[in-house]
Amino acid sequence: MKITKKHVFSLLVILILAVGALSIASAYTGTGFTHSIPSSKYQDVTASDILSKYNNTDCNVEETATCTEVVDGDTIYLSNGKKVRLVGVNTPERGVEGYITSKVFVQKLCLNKQIGLDIDDSKPTDKYGRTLAVVIVDGKNLNEMLLKEGLAEIMYIPPSEFYPYNWADSSTHISSSHQTSTNANTDSGSGDSGNYIGNSNSGKFHKSTCKWGQKTAEHNRVYFNNRNEAISQGYVPCKVCNP
Ligand SMILES: [Zn+2]
Repeated sequence: MKITKKHVFSLLVILILAVGALSIASAYTGTGFTHSIPSSKYQDVTASDILSKYNNTDCNVEETATCTEVVDGDTIYLSNGKKVRLVGVNTPERGVEGYITSKVFVQKLCLNKQIGLDIDDSKPTDKYGRTLAVVIVDGKNLNEMLLKEGLAEIMYIPPSEFYPYNWADSSTHISSSHQTSTNANTDSGSGDSGNYIGNSNSGKFHKSTCKWGQKTAEHNRVYFNNRNEAISQGYVPCKVCNP
């Protein structure tokens, strides 16, 4: 077949359409986090069944309002006009596997109910004007429940009052999309407790921002305020994060 100008033109059009479609698709997926928990898991479960599995949070209810709409697993609207982004967590975006289940879970616990907010004192709103907060339902931390149920991944963006790794267990998925902003803050805030995570099983210790430190199982974790404290207790620095 002879290649004509027309062929070249149609190829170009196809290429441009393909690139366009790809960029739209990637805009939808966010960090790309998905999970495969079916929404049927929560079909015959009541809100009180779920709430009874969890301990009361030590977060403070700073204000209360009624949840009027659940956008997705990590974003809700309130009767006071606020749009709330659940801090420290990330759920599947619309059109991605797991989106429905995470949304159904939040609807079950929040929709048309009075909820409490503990707003992030370090960063009260994000760049879209959404209030960053822990949502409190009957004294329980919804952000934490989403992580423990496997319906959300950890998305820790410092500065933040909250440290979502404390809410998760060792199987929790960790967002990889904010590692750079996390690393950029490694050197700030020295003297805060929990700057270093030791693994009592491996004998190694990590910066709190190291993904290997974050993957340490809760029951193996030891927290250190500073490097010397870890060394003096016989812990060896991780070769990846060089604490
Ligand atoms: Zn490390």
